[in-house]
This record gives sequence, C-alpha cells and structure tokens, in this order.
Amino acid sequence: MPHLFSIFLHLLFFKLVAPVTFRHHRYDELVRMLYKVHNECPYITRVYSIGRSVKGRHLYVLEFSDYPGTHEPLEPEVKYVGNMHGNEVLGRELLLQLSEFLCEEFRNGNQRIVRLVEGTRIHIMPSMNPDGYEVAAAQGPDTFGYLVGRNNANGVDLNRNFPDLNTYIYYNEKNGGPNHHLPLPDNWKSQVEPETKAVIQWIRSFNFVLSANLHGGAVVANYPYDKSFEHRVRGFRRTANTPTPDDKLFQKLAKVYSYAHGWMHQGWNCGDYFPDGITNGASWYSLSKGMQDFNYLHTNCFEITLELSCDKFPRQEELQREWLGNREALIQFLEQVHQGIKGMVLDENYNNVANAVISVSGINHDVTSGDHGDYFRLLLPGTYTVTATAPGFDPETLIVTVGPGEPKLVNFQLKRSILQATPKRKAPNSGHRNKVLPKKVQPQAAGKKELKMKQSQRGPA
Ligand SMILES: [Zn+2]
Repeated sequence: MPHLFSIFLHLLFFKLVAPVTFRHHRYDELVRMLYKVHNECPYITRVYSIGRSVKGRHLYVLEFSDYPGTHEPLEPEVKYVGNMHGNEVLGRELLLQLSEFLCEEFRNGNQRIVRLVEGTRIHIMPSMNPDGYEVAAAQGPDTFGYLVGRNNANGVDLNRNFPDLNTYIYYNEKNGGPNHHLPLPDNWKSQVEPETKAVIQWIRSFNFVLSANLHGGAVVANYPYDKSFEHRVRGFRRTANTPTPDDKLFQKLAKVYSYAHGWMHQGWNCGDYFPDGITNGASWYSLSKGMQDFNYLHTNCFEITLELSCDKFPRQEELQREWLGNREALIQFLEQVHQGIKGMVLDENYNNVANAVISVSGINHDVTSGDHGDYFRLLLPGTYTVTATAPGFDPETLIVTVGPGEPKLVNFQLKRSILQATPKRKAPNSGHRNKVLPKKVQPQAAGKKELKMKQSQRGPA
C-alpha cells in the first residue's frame, strides 16, 4: 500500500511539474499563458505591457525578479525579445517555455535558477510583432509564403525600422565625437512604427545591460555591427566584417549561446556554414536600422541576434526538440550579465550620481550609470584602467583586474571639481569624448530600401 501511495505521489508530482504540451500559441493563448505563469509564481513575476501594435494588440512582457517592478541597485536588467518578424515563431514559443521553466524550477528550489532570479531582473517579451504572427499562424507551417507575416500590419519590417545611428558612429570613430548614447533624431517618433516606438521607449526607461533578439531562418548567433562600414556597390552596402569596439566580448557572448546550444556551434546548419556557429552581422549581410546596433549605440545594452531554426515556422512536433536544444543556452546567456565590473558612482556625501560616464581605456565605447547611480560594464577577464566622469566632478581613475567569475565591484566616489568655471580639462582616458561634435553628418539615402536578400533562396532572417 505505501508503495502504491508513493506511485500516486510520483504521478501527481510529475503531473504538476510536467511541461506544458509543446504547441504554438495564438495571441489569446499567449496572454493566458503569461498570466498562468504569473499566477503560479506571483511573488517573482509581473506582467506588463509596453504599448500596442498597429492592430491594438498589447506588447506584453513577463518580468522575473525577487522584487518585481523594482530596480534594485547593482542588480542588472536583461531582456529577451522574440517574434519581431511575425513569421519567425520559434523564439516566441521558446520564451514561453523559458517562462514556465524559470517559474517551476524556482518553486522546486533549483539553486541555479533561484540565484539567477534573486540576482537578476529578467524581462521576457515573447512577441514584438503580434499582428504579423496572426497572419503567419493563419497560414501555418509548410507553405510557400515564406515572408507572409514577417512585417507588421503596416507592411514594415521592424528590424529595418530603428533610427540609423551607425552613420554617426562610423564618422565619430574616425573623426572624434561621442561613442555611446548617440542622440535620437528630433522627429524620431513620427519616423517609426508603433511597435518600434514602444520598444525604444521601453529600452530607454530601463538600464538594460544584456539582451538577445530571437529570430529564425538560419541557425547562428549574430553580433553587431549589423550595418557594414563599407561603401555601397551598385546600391547595396558591401558585406564586410564590421566589428564594434567590444568585438571580443560580443564574440564570447555569441559563443556562449552557440556552444550551450544543442547543435548551433557545429557550424553547418540550414545549408550555411558559420565557424563556431557565430557571425558578425555585417560580414553575413549588411542591414540598416536594425535593433541590435541601435541598442549598442543608443543605450547601455549589449544585444545579439539569435537565429534559431531553419524553418521559420517549425511544425509543432519539432518544438520539444528545439526547447531541449535551446534551454541551457537561454539560461547560460542570462548568466552572462554577471561578468566584468559593476558598482556605484557616488559624490562626497554618498549621493548617487546618475549618468556618470564609465570609460575603459582601449575600448572606445563608454557606458553610463543609471538613475540609482549604479553602473554595469561587461568585460572579459583582464586588467583595465577605468575612469568615471560626471559634469561638475573631477574624474576618478582606477586600475581593475577582472577575473572569469562574478563581476568585480568597483565603486567610484567623485569629488566636486573646483575648476568648474574654467575651460574644460582633458580627462584621462576619455577617448574622443571631449572633442568637438562633428558637423551634422548627412544620413545615408534614407528612403532607399536596404533589405538585402542572401544568396540562398531563404530570404532574410
Ligand atoms: Zn528575422
């Protein structure tokens, strides 16, 4: 009898923790699923909407944190965005699976997940293009309409819809000028789609540190820049490796995903070959106005783009295998936010200094402190000269050695400058920051479409 009872308990337990059936979720089902996870884990989750699509569907985010709705100083914010192309649906389903998984494993006391949720604020947006998804889902898998549902309801490709800041930064890299937080054009709101506008306002309102944007149509981890530095040839931008100043770090972030993934790192997928399963975006094909370049150039966030399946709309039967192939990678990537250095920037009276600039000598890309005075600078192991500067304060420079494990805590306490009224002194290691802003750079032919098809029949990912 006790034996039967234990079988009963086992079955009950298994039923409780068994994953949801692997299937596609239409918009209403997706919303129900997010609230289901929230109801199962109310103390560590929050559902919020960042705005609406063209057709009025909410762009929902599920947040995981030990204090949902609150930024805790020194706890980094990370995000996953799925289904930006409405017909690339695997990321959407994987992010729903991930949400269930984080909730269940937290409840089961899985120490790795408990640590992650307690030390990180995780924002998961399963669908950035719910309108496109409904069009693609009405058509279903196994059809020839390969691009049906890719765009939003106004027919716009959202990954070609962000303000183009690359032109400015490529100019600045050569001639001097800011290397971070490049300003938006004055009229940006009228130039972008509702989904893009909502996402831009979202990523400006949180101090995101790390992010991934989930796509389909290939299997590779793609890192910035996406837009080639090279000049145009017959109307197209040339394909050419176009690294950021953080190239080595981005390669590592991409490799963490590809090697933790079931098969991405093998390189041969979908008829393409990518060594280590990673690629610089522009060396694959050049793309303007994409989201990952925008994150890097306008915010503190380091974003990569994950291409996760050859089939953009995999059959339902494939979903479980895909989840098992991606689960570890999705978790390891989140854990990558805990590396490099982080700390507080304070004044002499221990008040927070927001928007202080943190520069690392040898890497021409600065980050800034958030509203709470905390900053996060992802770095590979090594020894660095790090300088904090803020208007009205003397710069402070520290030498820091970063190891491979947890991020090193490096706090700055800035002293009020007595030379405020006198002309600017050049701060040490300040890169190009103090140089005069260049004259207005002419944006590249903005009206021309730059959607460039790959050589294969697949079309853009
Ligand atoms: Zn895509």
